[in-house]
Amino acid sequence: MSEKRTILVIEDEKSISNFICRALTAHDYKAIPAFRGKEGLSLFYSHSPELVLLDLGLPDMDGMTILEELCALPTEVPVLIISARDRETEKVKALDIGAEDYIVKPFGVSELLARIRTILRRVDRIKLSQGTQKDVYHIKDLTVDIARHIITQAGTEIHFTQNEFKIMELLCIHAGKVLTYDFILEHVWGPYGSTSNQILRVNMANIRRKLKENPSEPKYILTELGIGYRLLDD
Ligand code: CA
Repeated sequence: MSEKRTILVIEDEKSISNFICRALTAHDYKAIPAFRGKEGLSLFYSHSPELVLLDLGLPDMDGMTILEELCALPTEVPVLIISARDRETEKVKALDIGAEDYIVKPFGVSELLARIRTILRRVDRIKLSQGTQKDVYHIKDLTVDIARHIITQAGTEIHFTQNEFKIMELLCIHAGKVLTYDFILEHVWGPYGSTSNQILRVNMANIRRKLKENPSEPKYILTELGIGYRLLDD
């Protein structure tokens, strides 16, 4: 029998915590609830969870402080933020500190489980490929060959400019994860490059046109309004 994967749930609202822990337990995860920040950190160090669900609004300490502490650790345990609606700047800040993803309250069981599966799959993939630089990505009918600088869609090559290709490469490496505008701008245009979201939007529009994306029903790239972009990997 394989061992259950442990998830630490740092959330002070009892009803939400119960809801999450019940859902996790029912789906064969081991859930550990913490209702305070300090308690959460101490349970983190004593139980070594594989994933942390973190509410940013906690009674005894700022969730961002916990996030900073967890992200500074070499263990690189992924953190999924539980966020209130309309807190775009907070989400962006959390992602830039190193949170893996966020989920907005109120959320359903299937959304929560899907987010968790995506994160754990990414973590497993990274562990598997550690040391080996992966250079070909397969996303739906796309093949992105980093070394040969070729992207094909259902076998047909699509021409991308240098920067469009860099954006696609970045999205593939982080498939399933939301990337903030600043993260993409810095990785594609460099730390002294463009800081304007407009240039990114133009490039993204070109990428989508070339991929024949229907903006109302995206197949590959999802816009997270006010935050960034996410490559859909399943
Ligand atoms: Ca709270």
